[in-house]
Amino acid sequence: MVDLNMKVVRPVKMTPESRFRFKCHPGVPCFTECCGRTTIILTPYDILRLKGRLGIDSGDFLERYTRREEHEQSGLPLVIMDMPRYGGKCPFVRPVTGCLVYSDRPATCRYYPVGQGVLITEEGLDEFYFLVREPHCKGFEEQDEWNVETWRKDQGADYYDEMNREWKAMMLRRSSFGKPDITEREQDLFYMVMYDLDQFRRFIFKSRFLTIFQVDDDTQQRIWEDDLELLRFGYKYIKMVFKISDDKSLSLAPQEAVPAAT
Ligand code: SF4
Ligand code: SF4
Repeated sequence: MVDLNMKVVRPVKMTPESRFRFKCHPGVPCFTECCGRTTIILTPYDILRLKGRLGIDSGDFLERYTRREEHEQSGLPLVIMDMPRYGGKCPFVRPVTGCLVYSDRPATCRYYPVGQGVLITEEGLDEFYFLVREPHCKGFEEQDEWNVETWRKDQGADYYDEMNREWKAMMLRRSSFGKPDITEREQDLFYMVMYDLDQFRRFIFKSRFLTIFQVDDDTQQRIWEDDLELLRFGYKYIKMVFKISDDKSLSLAPQEAVPAAT
């Protein structure tokens, strides 16, 4: 079981304006040390980017590089980078050149050494930050100065946050009612739609899905061609199945049940 706010090392809470000095570059003596013996939870958008970068099917990506665990509070499945299978290191780290997938690295890697927490409030999501000061990290001895906001922008984390916001909200909303009952079939459906996008696409176009759900031609075309559009559609579909949205743009044909994920 996994908690979303894991791996917090002596957290110091920060606002977007909080300042810190930091620089990570190949010249630091600890180069790539943070790319191992840690837990990286992959978001749906992380997986979309990584499988695209590697040019492989989402199912292959999940099988080769990740393991599935259950999020303790919501009962929903999480995808974790499977470092133990690669000797405790990230499968994409290289000793001299560093990150093999740098421009498509996950949100957690972009934020580091800033950690991110999130709470659900009546007004919506309350995202907050903290500094992860691990003793081995020499980046704090460098002079470049940031605040959380300039760091997020520099690392491209703000765009990732935008893409991941709905996923986080779903996990938290499910958690906020205490651990809800969730069937194995619902867990499998969530896993496929959120993380195994290529399988979700096959599910839409090769099962009875389009006879059960009313999806207009334009949307069908877009989700056939574009992974990001498919992910957006997936958010809508999951929110409808799990009854956390009253969005009527995806509707069930009369008297039909939701099809099984497999
Ligand atoms: S431990 Fe810190 S300074 Fe060293 S490589 Fe990782 S982020 Fe960079
Ligand atoms: S994805 Fe890249 S930055 Fe992230 S842990 Fe792996 S090698 Fe390091």
